[in-house]
Amino acid sequence: MSDNMHKDETGQRRVCRKCLTAEMEEAAYFENLRAYIESLDEEVKASHAAYMERLALCRECGLLLDGMCRACGCFVELRAAMWKNACPYDKWTAETDKNSEAF
Ligand code: SF4
Repeated sequence: MSDNMHKDETGQRRVCRKCLTAEMEEAAYFENLRAYIESLDEEVKASHAAYMERLALCRECGLLLDGMCRACGCFVELRAAMWKNACPYDKWTAETDKNSEAF
């Protein structure tokens, strides 16, 4: 477990939201980001199908650089993880009918 992760009183792993990226090792930073995405509430998470489709489109996009979108500055995995988000260039859109299970 990295320095920016800790366990709460129930023993669950929690992400430290007070750490600055400059204070983290790169691997710890990405572990923190992935843990944050996984910990999103089910109500805000995109469906699995939408998440995978969005990331496939980002992978093909010339604006993707090191996991970040150069149009909006977001990490695309975080942006794509939420059903209400959309690509700034409309390459993928917000989900309007989220009936399927979150990823
Ligand atoms: S969010 Fe849109 S503009 Fe940004 S990398 Fe993905 S497809 Fe490209």
